[in-house]
Amino acid sequence: MLNLTYSYRIYPSLDQEARMLDWLEQCRRVYNYALAERKDWIDSRKCPVNACSIRQEYIILADVPYPDYYKQQNALTKAKEEIPELKAVHSQVLQDALKRLDKSFKFMQERGFGFPRFKKFGQYRSFVFPQFKSNPVNGFEIKLPKIGAMPINLHRPIPEGFEVKQVRVVFKPSGWYAQLILQADISVPEPMPQGEPIGIDLGLEKFLALSTGELVERPRFFVDLQSKLRWLQRKLRNKKKGSANYRKIQAKIRKLHEYIHNVRREFHFEIAHKLCDRAGMIFAEDLNLKMTSRGMLAKHCLDAAWGSFLDILKWVCWKRGGYFAKVDPNGTSQTCPQCAVHTGKKKLSERVHHCSECGYTTDRDVAAAQVVMQRGLLFVADGQSVILPVEEGCVSTPMKQESPSVRKGSQRRTS
Ligand SMILES: [Zn+2]
Repeated sequence: MLNLTYSYRIYPSLDQEARMLDWLEQCRRVYNYALAERKDWIDSRKCPVNACSIRQEYIILADVPYPDYYKQQNALTKAKEEIPELKAVHSQVLQDALKRLDKSFKFMQERGFGFPRFKKFGQYRSFVFPQFKSNPVNGFEIKLPKIGAMPINLHRPIPEGFEVKQVRVVFKPSGWYAQLILQADISVPEPMPQGEPIGIDLGLEKFLALSTGELVERPRFFVDLQSKLRWLQRKLRNKKKGSANYRKIQAKIRKLHEYIHNVRREFHFEIAHKLCDRAGMIFAEDLNLKMTSRGMLAKHCLDAAWGSFLDILKWVCWKRGGYFAKVDPNGTSQTCPQCAVHTGKKKLSERVHHCSECGYTTDRDVAAAQVVMQRGLLFVADGQSVILPVEEGCVSTPMKQESPSVRKGSQRRTS
């Protein structure tokens, strides 16, 4: 089973657009209502039973169960009888708003932070049709249930053998988009680990460091766009909230955000292809593990962009038959790639790796990338548990046959 997401521009009529905007608003209301319900329940359980708190006087009886997804879904069916606006929305689309809330609560429980927030007017920007009986796309049109057919710009064809599973309709500053979630039932063989290995380290100053010793800079235009964004945000602060000028700048900021997102994505694809040009096996640090293993500083610095780069890299590797695996990031910057000696913690300001044991000197991030590569090769060689294949599908069964470079890697580890 293989999933892909392709995004296409769609062109609703004025009437369709009005309906879609109304759907977004109804979804937002359902989401907020369901969130308030859960929040009240949680707050009421914080209040001690034997004392009436002034701050928290939610009176919800002790035997009232937690409003989970299924309870809220049942309540939604009842609410539809009383609120006619809800009936206008496709029922599965509304249910998906509840699912979305449920997901963000689960996400919070896993990570231990990030209580879901209420969505203000205009902050709810997409809805999902979770299933289709038949293909909604034919030729130049997409047919959405209860909305109708509208033109779609199929700038690239849906690949052979794929079916449209879900459609997410997104309202962006530049217009409306349909994200088609495509699925193929064919089982795709995982790429075998072979070819030149490369390790990468995602950095704060440089975008990437490669185990070959190269550094990929953060592109200059990106810095310019960021400062333009900050300039607009400063300007917004001086305007009266809700005024015409305020909204004008707000719209500009939204457009710029979208533009930055697109430019970044393009840059990520470019780098991913360049990496695939020269290597058959690519190893990167597992960011999820990195997130939990480092302190508060890391949480802010590791922006979502890194995660999306790794997703893109994984996809490009798969498409081009390259092998991609994530490795345990712990201590990559504290190990000497030459002699595997533990060199102790480096400060962030310390930019150079210098090993007192063997005298190996190189850029700090390059050294980390080399350690990442060695861990990757070690995993490929004998599947040792040093490397954690966290995501399914990104690591195939380890290959038994050893290449010289692989053997070198495992010797270093065991010595
Ligand atoms: Zn050394």
